[in-house]
Amino acid sequence: MKRAPLALVCAVSLTSPALSDPGEGPDGADCPLSPTPAQVELVRQRLALGLYNPPRWRGADVLVPMTIHVVRRSNGTGGISAAEIDNTIAAANTAWLGSGIQFCQPGATVFIDDDNFYTSTDTFAEIDALRSTAVVPDTINIYFVPNLRSELGSLCGISSFTFSTTQGIVVSNNCTPAFGNPSTFPHELGHYFDLYHTHETAFGVECTDGSNCADAGDLRCDTPADPNVGGEVPPDTCLWIGSDPPPCSGAPAYSPPVLNVMSYSAKSCRTDFTADQFAAAMATLVNLRPGLLANACDPCPNIADINDDGQLDSTDFTAWIAAFNAGDTKADQNGDGSIDPTDFTAWIANFNTGC
Ligand SMILES: [Zn+2]
Repeated sequence: MKRAPLALVCAVSLTSPALSDPGEGPDGADCPLSPTPAQVELVRQRLALGLYNPPRWRGADVLVPMTIHVVRRSNGTGGISAAEIDNTIAAANTAWLGSGIQFCQPGATVFIDDDNFYTSTDTFAEIDALRSTAVVPDTINIYFVPNLRSELGSLCGISSFTFSTTQGIVVSNNCTPAFGNPSTFPHELGHYFDLYHTHETAFGVECTDGSNCADAGDLRCDTPADPNVGGEVPPDTCLWIGSDPPPCSGAPAYSPPVLNVMSYSAKSCRTDFTADQFAAAMATLVNLRPGLLANACDPCPNIADINDDGQLDSTDFTAWIAAFNAGDTKADQNGDGSIDPTDFTAWIANFNTGC
């Protein structure tokens, strides 16, 4: 089914049956998130400046901090379970493996007990009001709600680009792994790092021969042109059954990326990101979301990691001696408030517990 190019954020008809995923749990489209014309210009300027170019990243995975908010009834009942939150985060980390980015929850879950949000979060104004609640800076604020809708219909999730006015991600409780949907959350995280739908047309329609792949579609050249496969990929086969003609004369037929997380394929089929998507996401983290990078979770929370390099090794022994000689509290490995030789034994014990 053909759709008109998206010109406005969220301006897509979610009542179209082509956007539902038949046979896949509750209905709901993944965020109709698309750049506005003004935002397209901003992105093109950033591209020219090289801000989305892959950085030289050689380090360990960055553990990007998230704050999880759970909407419950005003009396404190209801809401997604802690176990399902863990499952959802784990599924996202699986999808993002190989990107250099993994996700962590350094703080306690924040509960928002509010019958209004609980009954339904169903307008864009309400979505933005929720996303403005109890925001923890320099973390990705994520809100789980029981019933997510907008003026346009049911939603599985909504996210924000770096240039979006209101930041944060909202996910429907019913669009999580327990409901056969491991891909909505990693999809929204993709938008958060300025990844676009593989069928994006705000930058122009991508030709199937790849000739304009860097300037049109999702701006990534290793994601094939995509006509928007929403409702056209049966989850039991994960094969595209659409028949959209190629948009550029003489170009080959569509072969859309039905396994790509940033597509509108069946939720259970979406498992893959491409190398260029991951590289652009890492560039976005480093260049455009530096607060997250600076606030990353400690990859090795063990206090025996004296030099805080994220690993336990012999350099920490040298660092412990230096800390001991300097009277640095880091040398107080048994936490008794004094720095003495018993801390060396404690350092060994801590070291042996690992990261
Ligand atoms: Zn989306």
